[in-house]
Amino acid sequence: MTDEVAKKVARWVRPEVRALTSYHVPDARGLIKLDAMENPHGWPESLKPAWLDALRAVDLNRYPDPGAQALKARLRESLGIPPGADLLLGNGSDELIQIMLLALAQPGAQTLAPTPTFVMYQQIALAVGMEFVGVPLAADFALDRAAMAKAIKTYNPAAIFLSYPNNPTGNLFDATDVEALLREAPGLVVLDEAYHAFAEASFMDRLARYPNLLVMRTLSKQGMAGLRVGVLVGSPAWLTEFDKLRLPYNVGSLAQASVEFALAHRDAFDAQCREIRDERGKLYLDLSRLPGVQVWPSRANFILFRVRDANTVHARLRKAGILIKNLHAAGGALAGCLRVTVGTPAENAAFLATLGAIL
Ligand code: PMP
Repeated sequence: MTDEVAKKVARWVRPEVRALTSYHVPDARGLIKLDAMENPHGWPESLKPAWLDALRAVDLNRYPDPGAQALKARLRESLGIPPGADLLLGNGSDELIQIMLLALAQPGAQTLAPTPTFVMYQQIALAVGMEFVGVPLAADFALDRAAMAKAIKTYNPAAIFLSYPNNPTGNLFDATDVEALLREAPGLVVLDEAYHAFAEASFMDRLARYPNLLVMRTLSKQGMAGLRVGVLVGSPAWLTEFDKLRLPYNVGSLAQASVEFALAHRDAFDAQCREIRDERGKLYLDLSRLPGVQVWPSRANFILFRVRDANTVHARLRKAGILIKNLHAAGGALAGCLRVTVGTPAENAAFLATLGAIL
């Protein structure tokens, strides 16, 4: 029977799906969680009663507003969406990447990104049957302009993803390099500004200048990862097509109401992001003082660093109750590399003390 099932699966499931491995999320129960770029602070207690009142008013027997009109109006104001641009909401920005690539996945179509970068661009491109081209970043993690231009000519990509700042390297690409790429690219260029709250740099104000530019944001890194809300911003002509592939009720009504509430109280969340930026500066300095650690400056809420034996350091941190991300297995520029999310002052201190002891 098991053999027969395996045969059926092999016969009917698309080979590119069978070739994938599921995105692995490690079990973090009981650990100090510094692996996934979450905001380490919970929602301020002072806001919770009013938030719960907002949730009580939601009619859970009804479907959510498929157009999320109230939330979109709030986002328009809060994100400073330029006039003439539209918004498309996703169940996290992961879903927005999937929606875009579903629309672009013609036979032989290519998705391109500088690498190393956020792995879901490749994962989703392959899942929808596209090909993925990774163009190595320069040694300092800047865009390799010549290599990008050559790859664009060779592959004529339907989509290019730029994580701005880049996950996992933490740097912002040079804006002049990005603009050159926007002019060279025949297809869509998505500026993925997931870490915008910590970078304070954006291409939002350049949307009207480039017909192939879309800007993507997420609420995940600012204290709302559990709500799963991503935002795609750009010309209505692109978004109208993508909206046809969005499942009608992709953002639940509790998530809509919660994000709407949070944006109405954004001072509290902005203050948390400021604290994370301050902590990032301290963490960077402390890491760079540790012997045998190479550390890269970051414009995001995480820091990439290299040690001599990444696997051992990662395992020993975990044993001591601290979970960070091990990137060593990716090889290449990431050989020996680990990525730590900026936590609370206490979490960062625990991480640094333990790492210092291990080294
Ligand atoms: N883009 C980048 C660059 C990311 O690092 C992440 C999360 N790790 C995402 C998008 C996805 O974020 P979400 O689906 O939570 O919005």
